[in-house]
Amino acid sequence: MENDKGLIIVLSGFSGAGKGTIMKHLLQSHPKEYNLSISATTRSMRPSEQEGREYFFKTKEEFKAMIDNDELLEYAEFADRSYGTPRSYVEELINAGKDVILEIEVQGALQVKEKYPDALLLFVTPPDAQTLKERLVGRGTEPPEVIAQRLAISSKESHLMEKYDYLIINDILEDSVNKVHNIIQSEHARTNRNLDSIAKMQEELTIFAKTDK
Ligand code: ADP
Ligand code: 5GP
Repeated sequence: MENDKGLIIVLSGFSGAGKGTIMKHLLQSHPKEYNLSISATTRSMRPSEQEGREYFFKTKEEFKAMIDNDELLEYAEFADRSYGTPRSYVEELINAGKDVILEIEVQGALQVKEKYPDALLLFVTPPDAQTLKERLVGRGTEPPEVIAQRLAISSKESHLMEKYDYLIINDILEDSVNKVHNIIQSEHARTNRNLDSIAKMQEELTIFAKTDK
C-alpha cells in the first residue's frame, strides 16, 4: 500500500437520503480538504443544476463513447439513466495525495471497491423509510412515478448496506456532516495508511539507540 496517495471516499445512499446536502455542507466547511468528483449522466438537468457543477450532462451516444474510450472509472444504470465517474480527475487527485469524494449509487460503489480496495465506503440513510419518502417528496424534483421508482430501487439497495464500511444515519444534518468528516480523518490516522511515518520513526529511533548508548 502506498501512503502518500489521497483517499477515495465513496458516499452512497438512498435517493433523497441527503447525500447531496451533506456533501454541500462538508465542502463549505472544509473547502481545502475535499474534492468532489463530478459525474457524467444521461439524465436531464434539474432547474437548480448547472452543466459541470452537479454533473456533466451527456447524450446516450456521448456517454457510450466515454465507456468505449475507457474514460470512466465506473458506471451504472439508475432509474433508466446512465451515470459514471470520469477516471482522469480521480486519478490525478489521488496521485497528488488529495482526497476525492464520489457521490455514487451502490453498483458503482462496489466497482470502485473492487478496483481500489483501500477506498472508504460510506452509506447515508435517513432514520426511517417514512422520512425518506417525505424528503424525496419534499425536494420536489421528481414526479410521483419517479419517486415510486426511486423508493423501489432503495428497497433493493438496502440489501447492500452491509457492504459499506460506515453507516451515516442522517437525522440532524450538522451531526451527519461532522460524522463524515471525522470518519475520513480517522481513516487517515490508520496505522496501515501511515507506514512511511512508522518507518521514519523506527529509523530515527534506531539511530538514537545506537548513538545514545
Ligand atoms: P440525495 O442527494 O441523497 O438524493 P438530497 O441531499 O437532495 O438527497 O436531500 C433530499 C431532501 O432532504 C432535500 O430537500 C434536503 O434539503 C433534505 N434533507 C437532507 N438532509 C436532511 C436532514 N438531515 N434533515 C432534514 N432534511 C434533510
Ligand atoms: P440523481 O439523479 O438523484 O442526481 O442521482 C441518482 C443516483 O445516481 C444517486 O444515487 C447518485 O448517487 C448516483 N450517481 C451519481 N453519479 C454517479 C456516478 O458517477 N456513478 C454511479 N454509479 N452513480 C452515480
